[in-house]
Amino acid sequence: MNRTLQVYKFGGASVKDAAALLNLHTILHSRLQAIKVIVVSAMGKTTNALEAVLAKKLGQEDFSKDWKQIKEFHVGVCEELFPAAHPVFEKLGQLMDTAQPILELPISKINYDEVYDQLICYGELLSSILVSEYLIFKGLCLSWQDVRSVIHTDSDFRFAKIDWKKTRSTCQSQWGSLLEHTTILTQGFIGKEAQGRTTTLGREGSDFTAAILAASLDAESVTIWKDVPGVLNADPKLFPNTQKFEELRYREAAEMTYFGASVIHPKTIKPLANEGIPLFVKSFLDPEASGTKIHEHAAAHDVPTLVLKKNQVLISFKVTDFTFIEEKHIHSIYEKLKELKLRANMLQLSAISVSLVVDTQLFKLEQLVESLKTTFEIRYNEELELLTILKPKEEDIPSLMEGYELLLEQTTRTTYQAVRRKK
Ligand code: ASP
Ligand code: MG
Repeated sequence: MNRTLQVYKFGGASVKDAAALLNLHTILHSRLQAIKVIVVSAMGKTTNALEAVLAKKLGQEDFSKDWKQIKEFHVGVCEELFPAAHPVFEKLGQLMDTAQPILELPISKINYDEVYDQLICYGELLSSILVSEYLIFKGLCLSWQDVRSVIHTDSDFRFAKIDWKKTRSTCQSQWGSLLEHTTILTQGFIGKEAQGRTTTLGREGSDFTAAILAASLDAESVTIWKDVPGVLNADPKLFPNTQKFEELRYREAAEMTYFGASVIHPKTIKPLANEGIPLFVKSFLDPEASGTKIHEHAAAHDVPTLVLKKNQVLISFKVTDFTFIEEKHIHSIYEKLKELKLRANMLQLSAISVSLVVDTQLFKLEQLVESLKTTFEIRYNEELELLTILKPKEEDIPSLMEGYELLLEQTTRTTYQAVRRKK
């Protein structure tokens, strides 16, 4: 095991502008000895901006302004950080030009998921070039690498699955000796499929990239730098009096992300837990503070954790032929969910109906209803919230539900879930 290899991941907020990059340099400057891999995601809201370009293209609207804005944003940051003659300007310009064939694809030739990945990856490519050029300009010794040369995936565009074996062996063969001399700066979120096309790992997937690289390179630890002090027991924007966890077990962190806590990407924990690699979540605004350590041997705690998912739809499927719910009914619903890449965030069964809560996603509800309406009587409610409490304290629940209409509720010994709507 490579006990000196640490992986750092910086998300969009930590590289969002020139000031953020000054701060990034400060964090890395004193720590570069031990860090071997730095993963960066797209700057600020660039991924959303790229999605908007693609949406306009598909809607046959003029996207040239939006595309120009993405370029101007990156160039603007460079103007604050580099002298005018620095090669970074040309590098970024050249990179953006390589997207022209994608931008010019005739609509009839567009397979949305595939083209999405070919275009959206530019956020990470631009960001990683800009950030590495800046850090090198400031005197740090590192090497920019294209992560697509080591992360191999299947061709499930937008939700690509990792080919772990191939990824591990390429990571070691391609990066192993390089890492003996230098630190690598690379992109999160993207990979490559067998035919060489770019894939993406799902929105916010850069955390997962950090975990994949750490597991494949037998790293000592991963640190995710965020704009929060660590993992909190609730989102401070939504709930008062939040508490930071000093440490958490892998299982607890995984559960939180499963129920929708957005502090870490849901797929991040598993590869780290498998290899026993600790995950630190720290604040880039307060780098000396302890943050949260996620590992196997964290002390037990009984702090309730609150996770709120907005934009939820509650769908109930009722059998119409005076039979009862059987395995085949559940199976047919789950098959359809899988096909539509939807996940049931909550499930409740009664004798004659199945109730499900899913995220609102464009067109998906219509498709789900359409394909199952011959077997079930289907009803749904939109614009709901799903509140999950892990390690709930019964006495806390009434005040949390105050001002809300309760549509569905489920309690186990360790978890409370409520589907609610503001009154
Ligand atoms: N830039 C990508 C996104 O915003 C990936 C990431 O940030 O982790 O989803
Ligand atoms: Mg991002």
